[in-house]
Amino acid sequence: MNFALVQRLAKTLSNLALRSEVRIMEVCGTHTVEFFRTGVRSLFPKELILVDGPGCPVCVTPNEYLDRAIEIGKTGAILTTFGDLLKVPSSYTSLAKEKAKGMRVEIVYSPMEALQLAEKNPNEKIVFLSVGFETTAPAEAVAILHAREKKLKNFFVLSGNKLTPPAVKALLDSKEVHIDGFILPGHVSAIVGSKPWEFVALDYGKPCVIAGFEDFDLLTATLKLTEMITKNEIVLENLYKRVVKKDGNTRAIEIMYRVFEKCSSHWRGIGTIPESGLAIRDEFFEYDAEKIFSVELPPVKVSSACRCGELLRGLISPPECPLFENACTPEEPIGPCMVSSEGPCAAYHRYYKM
Ligand code: SF4
Repeated sequence: MNFALVQRLAKTLSNLALRSEVRIMEVCGTHTVEFFRTGVRSLFPKELILVDGPGCPVCVTPNEYLDRAIEIGKTGAILTTFGDLLKVPSSYTSLAKEKAKGMRVEIVYSPMEALQLAEKNPNEKIVFLSVGFETTAPAEAVAILHAREKKLKNFFVLSGNKLTPPAVKALLDSKEVHIDGFILPGHVSAIVGSKPWEFVALDYGKPCVIAGFEDFDLLTATLKLTEMITKNEIVLENLYKRVVKKDGNTRAIEIMYRVFEKCSSHWRGIGTIPESGLAIRDEFFEYDAEKIFSVELPPVKVSSACRCGELLRGLISPPECPLFENACTPEEPIGPCMVSSEGPCAAYHRYYKM
């Protein structure tokens, strides 16, 4: 990327003169982190407020999901998961604490790795904890298709997958938080395309941009969106055309819906959103850990002091939670937002100095 151009954009942003407060939401957890890591966030004039949205899949996964995973682990099955989920508190414990006590929990880097573990260990039951958005669900669908092809009987998926546009719609419907414009997720849009986001401008009158993740992308997105807001240009602008097409990755979408179907899903802090989750189709029943392992769940318990819910709805920023860096730290997290690599509290803890 042209360094001189990035410098020019950075100067434009830091010199931006706004007559009144402008509030923009970055929906995606990777954007949350990249705004800090690249230093772009530090260039914001004080009138420009960046609000963190519900775009970290681990953060929006409710306690019930982990409670179920842990009950499944108690049956002797081997749980496989991305590392992010390990320290996230469930209602009473965490995967990391249970692993320390002897539960079989393995970190994997892809669902295919979990599938290979199942192939190598035909006498063990391997459960993949599938927590993600549209970006990861197609790969999980492929793993299930492979499991069927290979006639594996010991590979299961616990689907906690979610779809992001319905969550943004739910936030807009709630009218709880005032947002002037949205920076929409680049990775998710690479799969679903720009089309599913058109409602933000068309139905809710909010300008929005789809953005990539380099410093150039973040600067361009911020400047363009601010200009659209101040000029009242209510459109969706795809600024990540090198990756995002209008209809997305149609092959990935086709594979995803071959295995999964839309279902109601419970989001931490937001509640149940219709058609915002991905359930394994009945046709693939034998791979669905929720249906195969009939376990009894303990009553759901959420720390009353944890403010992850308000954070994920854009109502507060991490330092406004009284537990931030006090009772809640990455070593001893109270909520998932402090421990997920894309969590807003983890990002603030790492990069933000008050
Ligand atoms: S500091 Fe901890 S408890 Fe507070 S919102 Fe963040 S993760 Fe939740």
